[in-house]
Amino acid sequence: MEIFMKNNILVTRSSMPLMEEYVDEIKDIWDSHWLTNMGAKHKELQKELQEYFGVEHMDLFTNGHMALELSLQALNLQGEVITTPFTFASTTHAIVRNGLTPVFCDINPVDFTMDVEKLESLITDKTCAIMPVHVYGNVCNVEEIERIAKKYELKVIYDAAHTFGVKYKGMSTAAFGDVSCFSFHATKVFNTIEGGAACFKDEEFGLELYRLKNFGIRGPERVDAVGANAKMNEFCAAMGLCNLRHVDEEIAKRKKVVERYRERLDGVEGLQLNPIQKDVEPNYAYFPVIFTPKLFGATRSEVVDALAEKGIGARKYFYPLTNTFECFHNAFDVDKTPVALHMSRNVLTLPLYADLALKDVDVICDTVLECGKQ
Ligand SMILES: *Cc1c(COP(=O)(O)O)cnc(C)c1O
Repeated sequence: MEIFMKNNILVTRSSMPLMEEYVDEIKDIWDSHWLTNMGAKHKELQKELQEYFGVEHMDLFTNGHMALELSLQALNLQGEVITTPFTFASTTHAIVRNGLTPVFCDINPVDFTMDVEKLESLITDKTCAIMPVHVYGNVCNVEEIERIAKKYELKVIYDAAHTFGVKYKGMSTAAFGDVSCFSFHATKVFNTIEGGAACFKDEEFGLELYRLKNFGIRGPERVDAVGANAKMNEFCAAMGLCNLRHVDEEIAKRKKVVERYRERLDGVEGLQLNPIQKDVEPNYAYFPVIFTPKLFGATRSEVVDALAEKGIGARKYFYPLTNTFECFHNAFDVDKTPVALHMSRNVLTLPLYADLALKDVDVICDTVLECGKQ
């Protein structure tokens, strides 16, 4: 039993179709010899995802990060972008790599997204945009962010990497902001191995974005922007087409896992779980637990160690905060984002994927609870 359990439960496990389904999907690629540069699979996946999200405009990318980075570039911004530090490196790096200055807003302690009460006070005459993150698939206060953005004429670029399939008041999160960027990385709810998408409203912006993902090439003999190479290739698009057929089923399975976790961990003293948000149809992307060591009886580190002992992976997600990264050489004052700092020090995301067995969820919960005083 001990040996069987060792390294058996990773924090996540990629969703994959049956191999036969994928092989069948990629046969066309052998026939066409068209491997990348917006081929048939790329076009088909884009169309199907637009339908799935219920949006008119979308472009696909080689990953979620390039969708974010090139979206900022396409908006042709200058100055400061207000964002949050409780996120993956990608969000902050997309800002900095565009020569823009991140200004860090704290998160709220309820759903861990941008604290809109603290947002307005950070706006200066240099502010050009807001880049909020739908952390763990929790939907930001999109209405308030829109109101503030309109008032100050700021662009809004959502990092929607965690919200594949999430709906707010019946609408996909892809519908909010000037742009919403998704990640289809292997570890996400829906994957194309590596991949991403930007959903937007303005067609002019879309043309600019399309050009930037292909070196800024406007025509066969004309290059008029310093673009990158961020095209999704045909094999990744084919993986996406297969995974998309099963994604609703995958989300339903995740739901069962999350329900079991909640049954076991909800109401335990010293543990805070992800909120169930009003008007939100969730995707069950992550299962974060926030420890209050004094009440629970064990620190996060102790829980990590106890889980590791049994071959169970858990992740300090997100830790450290992006505004403390070495690469920024103490440019930012972490004391200005105390809630984010507290979260990053006490949160642990437990294993969660569609095929995680409920008996394994029980083992994980038993291990966590044994650490505490319960
Ligand atoms: C995964 C992720 C990204 C980046 O996506 P990639 O597809 O890995 O480039 C950006 N932001 C957040 C919050 C993410 O979780």
